[in-house]
Amino acid sequence: MSHSSIIPYGKQTISEADIQAVVDVLRSDFLTQGPVVPAFEEAVASYCHVRHGVAVSNATAALHIACLSLGLGAGDWLWTSPITFVASANCGLYCGANIDFVDIDPHTFNMCPVALEKKLISAKLQGKLPKVVLPVHMCGQPCDMSAIHALSLKYGFKIIEDASHAIGAKYKGQPVGNCRYSDITVFSFHPVKIITTAEGGMALTNDAKLAQKMCLLRSHGISSTPADMLQKPGDEIWNYQQIDLGFNYRMTELQAALGLSQLKQLDQFVQTRHAIASYYDQAFSGTDIKTPWQHPDTYTSYHLYPIQVTASSGITQQLLYHTLTEAGVKVNLHYIPVYRQPYFEQMGFKRGYCPNAEDYFKSCISIPVYVSMTPEQQHRVVDLIQSVCHPKLLKRAMGGVF
Ligand SMILES: *Cc1c(COP(=O)(O)O)cnc(C)c1O
Repeated sequence: MSHSSIIPYGKQTISEADIQAVVDVLRSDFLTQGPVVPAFEEAVASYCHVRHGVAVSNATAALHIACLSLGLGAGDWLWTSPITFVASANCGLYCGANIDFVDIDPHTFNMCPVALEKKLISAKLQGKLPKVVLPVHMCGQPCDMSAIHALSLKYGFKIIEDASHAIGAKYKGQPVGNCRYSDITVFSFHPVKIITTAEGGMALTNDAKLAQKMCLLRSHGISSTPADMLQKPGDEIWNYQQIDLGFNYRMTELQAALGLSQLKQLDQFVQTRHAIASYYDQAFSGTDIKTPWQHPDTYTSYHLYPIQVTASSGITQQLLYHTLTEAGVKVNLHYIPVYRQPYFEQMGFKRGYCPNAEDYFKSCISIPVYVSMTPEQQHRVVDLIQSVCHPKLLKRAMGGVF
């Protein structure tokens, strides 16, 4: 099979303007710690209607410093969704906290607020309430944030939105990232995500103190602001001081320039993803292939388009996965429930812990969706799926006459 016939599940779209923006930085005075990172932060914050943006080397780093800035530490609990990338849970482990998982809503694949409330009630009785709850906007569809926020007021936890999939998405008509229902929101700019900076991430907040803390943590805990200094100058020169234990989680100027240029195309990118999704919606409507349902309060960014093979379809997830993969359509599973990973099973999590998450895992396949995907490529994906399902689909379409 020729390389050109491979269709990935996702990939970046890079324009000549994007390339020029990066080249311009290469010819400038600063490759890091210059003016482009703050410009990118301001542009994203303004797009999202939020006060502060803190750009970092990747979303995993953003999640880590978000947890630290909220004071998460040893003995605390962080709860997240099992249907997410491992980074949503690992950020809590980095802080020495304990991790637990709240089962998903089978329709949206997002953390279920009813399951969350049930778990909160029993955690309260045991004195083990979470310090941080970290909902994930799976596939780009925002979670039921007003319900989760209401529970946070009742049970006293902080909220970090893992919006790695969801820049460009909307919740109740407002942009994801505005932090109306959370303390901090995190975006990823990995190449498979909605816009890219190669590697990169950002933490957004309306709280100036949290923003300041995260700025400190992304650069060694070092400040050169006189007001921050703990050691008073006297007759020594203190032009910077390390006042906390931080990291080198900085984003480069090259990455920020790419991000700024990509941001201009964000709405167009999301519209194109919607067009591809609606082609799939139509192709599979009335068949035994289940397409991703959208809650009326949400406008997804369609980072992912998972189809589900239902038990009645007569085909298996494995058959569909292998057929597509062998034909060069590099489909993927999003996700294996995090607690099923060997590292987490060693911590004592058991198979079956979150039944909805496991049912979803056993039926889902993310089929390709990316901006440069051609209509021919979309047809090829649909034809391949229909070739596997055909007899059964036809049976359904003809009212079971076979
Ligand atoms: C991609 C992703 C991350 C991590 O993003 P990086 O920028 O690669 O660190 C975290 N959470 C979710 C849900 C993701 O999809």
